[in-house]
Amino acid sequence: MMEDHVQSLIELVETNENKHEAARIRNAAVFAEHAHQNQKRKSGEAYISHPVEVAKILLSYGLDDETIIASLLHDTVEDTPVTLDQVRELFGEEVAELVDGVTKLGKISYSSKEEQQIENLRKMLLAMAKDIRVIMIKLADRLHNMRTLEWQTPEKRREKALETLEVYAPLAHRLGIQNLKSELEDISLKYLDPIGYNEIVADLELFHENNERFHRIRSMITDKLKVENIDATVESRIKHIYSIYRKMFTQNKDFNEIYDLYAFRIIVNKTTECYNVLGLMHDLFTAIPGRLKDYIATPKPNMYQSLHTTVSFEGYLFEIQIRTYEMHRIAEMGIAAHWKYKSGLSGQDPLDQRLEWVRRLLEVQDGLSDADDFMKTFKIDLFADQVFVSTPKGDIITLHADSTVIDFAYAIHSQVGNKMIGAKINGRIVELTSKMQNGDVVEIITSEASNGPSRDWLKIVRTNEAKAKIRQWFKKEKKEENIQNGREDLERELRRNLINLNNISRDELLAPIYKRYALSGFDDLCAAIGYGGVSLSKILPKIKDDYSKIIKQQQAVQRPHPPGGIKKNPGGVEVDDIDNCLVRLAGCCVPVPGDEIVGFITRGYGVSVHKADCPNIKNSDPARLVRVHWEGNDTEYFTTSLYLIALNRIDLFADISAVLANMHIMTHSLTMNPQSDGCVKVFLTIEVHGLSHLEVIAKKLRKIRDVLQVERV
Ligand code: MN
Repeated sequence: MMEDHVQSLIELVETNENKHEAARIRNAAVFAEHAHQNQKRKSGEAYISHPVEVAKILLSYGLDDETIIASLLHDTVEDTPVTLDQVRELFGEEVAELVDGVTKLGKISYSSKEEQQIENLRKMLLAMAKDIRVIMIKLADRLHNMRTLEWQTPEKRREKALETLEVYAPLAHRLGIQNLKSELEDISLKYLDPIGYNEIVADLELFHENNERFHRIRSMITDKLKVENIDATVESRIKHIYSIYRKMFTQNKDFNEIYDLYAFRIIVNKTTECYNVLGLMHDLFTAIPGRLKDYIATPKPNMYQSLHTTVSFEGYLFEIQIRTYEMHRIAEMGIAAHWKYKSGLSGQDPLDQRLEWVRRLLEVQDGLSDADDFMKTFKIDLFADQVFVSTPKGDIITLHADSTVIDFAYAIHSQVGNKMIGAKINGRIVELTSKMQNGDVVEIITSEASNGPSRDWLKIVRTNEAKAKIRQWFKKEKKEENIQNGREDLERELRRNLINLNNISRDELLAPIYKRYALSGFDDLCAAIGYGGVSLSKILPKIKDDYSKIIKQQQAVQRPHPPGGIKKNPGGVEVDDIDNCLVRLAGCCVPVPGDEIVGFITRGYGVSVHKADCPNIKNSDPARLVRVHWEGNDTEYFTTSLYLIALNRIDLFADISAVLANMHIMTHSLTMNPQSDGCVKVFLTIEVHGLSHLEVIAKKLRKIRDVLQVERV
């Protein structure tokens, strides 16, 4: 009894047309039987029945000894005390790798999600199984579990059936293992829609009672082609249950309305023969109007070409496809494309091209005697340039193979990346430079208190997406910094130039600057100044110019025709303490240049200039009198004293002297008093025209390096 399972396998191995090392396989089966000896399947059978059945499935698909042995051991490492090292020691590295691969695949969690996530999951399975044989074992394992699904709870049945339909059947399809795919689909359907499944089974049974007709039709076709001397291959098939179901469901049809339950395919050498054969078939059977599809003249988007016609014979409808060998090759290559076409996806997937040779290998392997050598080539890295990892919730993220956890964070969302402070791979804290393996579960730790990405990250990340997002962050963050700095610089310079923005509209003053530098507004200007894109020294003269124009316009509006004929600085009079103020010569005494003059601050008309001895001035409020002088009058000087405080240095004296000399200032004295704190207090006695002149001098002195303060004594 104990030997039954193992023995039945060995008998199959020994009678298999491929050469197998029966002794090694027997060792593995006995080893597995021993490891699982205390376990039972839900059916009550000894656990060994499962790996043995999986091995039998793989044997029937012509797989090699290593795969058969690994399939016998596939549940030992996961479910028994057997370790991978033991497997490696007893059965070699290759078997150990296959077992390890299957064990890892078993840990990938599945939860039904949108189409893209399921597609990602399929790809992750393929990627994790660098050796395609791992997927083959996984599919055989799944097939046997599906065959024995009745022993599971109803919830488990539905869950496994859905997973099989969404993940494993498409994988089998991609690998071109059509029988396995069909059986997986049919069993899944049985548990997902038992009523629909049973109806189709009953309909098919009835249909098979007329199976004799199917063979008769086939003979009619081959005979006709022979008579007409056409060299052709005829293929025939009956649809499997799930594909009938899907057709009924998606096209809302009754079983009897399914035309292609039978399908015959005629493959010929030349395109012209296709149309020739079509005519012959329409002679032989009754063509159904409107059911002829000429995909030769109008290929499908995936390059598929064929003639499809539906005909009837004794009241039964069936489809005949006619194509050349070349069209057939393209159609077979495009199996995956066909699948995608049905899934509503389009475009050429390089993966399908890479899998194509796997499909071809599976097709031709029947004719090979030495399975071992052949199977070595099944090692393949389908996604050498990609890595598939998942979030703790099971969302699968595809990244460039060298990606770090930072790339992962930015792939989820830029906000996740920007707030990232750490990461875990498979629950363990890792460094930010850590790279990921296929199937890793990656968790990003974020904090609201994060200061954002570091510039170093730009050197660490591998994906352009992460790089772009980090750069974007810096540009945006820096913009705020730039605005702040630029604004401070601009405002300081405006104050220094006595431009008072309280008097006029800021944007009116700066509009010409915005326009010239193509800036959107004040913040943009500040950002540009902060960034260095616009130089303050270049725009200030223009701003000063515009400012005085605007002020002038405002005054002109206020007093279009002021009495006494106000002009700016009439006769060249300057008011000592007030810049840019209105000045007019008084009509009463009419001073002329050279006269001793005095200014009187009027209410609303600026300063009126009188002769110093004008009687109108004598009784006026002294607080409203200001000192004025004739502009350009070099003949009158005042002697005044000021002091400056500076950091002392050897050539400070020289710098001060140079400024005074350049401005043609007569200097009476210059005394330097060093202070205890390293500063020096410099007393100056100089000749000036007036206060405004003094202020100009003071400004120049303030600009000398290391000068901290300039004041009148
Ligand atoms: Mn298993």
